[in-house]
Amino acid sequence: MQRQSSYADEGGKLYLVPTPIGNLSDITIRAKQILQDADYIACEDTRTSGVLLARIGVKNKLLSFHKYNSKERAPELVEMMQQGTVIAEISDAGMPVISDPGYILVQACIKHGVPVVPLPGPSAFATALIASGFDAQPFTYYGFLPRKSTEQKPYFEQMNQAKATSIFYEAPHRLAKTLKTLATVLPADRQIVAARELTKIHEEFVRGSIAEVSDYFQATPPRGEFVILISPNTEQRQVATWPELIKAVSQLVKTGMSHKDAIKQVASQNQISKNELYDQYHQRREASNE
Ligand code: SAM
Repeated sequence: MQRQSSYADEGGKLYLVPTPIGNLSDITIRAKQILQDADYIACEDTRTSGVLLARIGVKNKLLSFHKYNSKERAPELVEMMQQGTVIAEISDAGMPVISDPGYILVQACIKHGVPVVPLPGPSAFATALIASGFDAQPFTYYGFLPRKSTEQKPYFEQMNQAKATSIFYEAPHRLAKTLKTLATVLPADRQIVAARELTKIHEEFVRGSIAEVSDYFQATPPRGEFVILISPNTEQRQVATWPELIKAVSQLVKTGMSHKDAIKQVASQNQISKNELYDQYHQRREASNE
């Protein structure tokens, strides 16, 4: 067990500082203060962050920390913080760690007892979720999905069954193809939202069925940054009783199907465990023979 009191001492620590996802006014007063007061700002791309920091009026020393150098850099930064250095970590936009590097540094700090102090602030998925019109509780955030459609399909199957709102990020040049794949797995009338260019001048929400939104983006090339949200599955599954399930198995067996195949089919149709159905089927058959 480990207990961390973020503000107990003046020693070194890691601040996780969110930055705007578009609108520069979304930087908080506290975020700006910490970026100004830290000994260093660790950022993914010192040039990108240099522009942002100049525009919000922060001048400080920058260190690079990105996914390609994170493994070697993390121990160095941890050592600096152990010696009293305060580091503020930012990503190119939004919350560090959310589909961005940072996790390795957070883990290394926790491992070595360096306090990790998170600041609240902008993140694209939460901004999209609250305006989607879908239930915000529960939700599942997937980040970026794999690029190949064969690798995307298992995720879409999960989203199809999910009783939670599903959220993922997608690059504009892949969006039309991804929506086409989505339409092969989920029902065409399932509702989705494409939230585009949040907090920016071209902010837009495209709401509709998968078929409508997919058709729209096949015809209108997607531009800008996107968050995709899929409504929860609200179908009420009919729950069959054990006697009903066993009767269904027996009826299939009477048609000539093997016990094994009949159990497998009934279990799959009712989304229950085939081992459990197997046990119930055989227990009841044995009891009725007695
Ligand atoms: N750390 C960021 C966050 O907290 O959301 C996410 C960074 S991830 C590398 C970048 C992706 O986030 C984009 O490709 C896009 O899918 C989404 N994103 C970032 N800014 C956005 C915006 N203004 N509108 C819509 N999506 C955005």
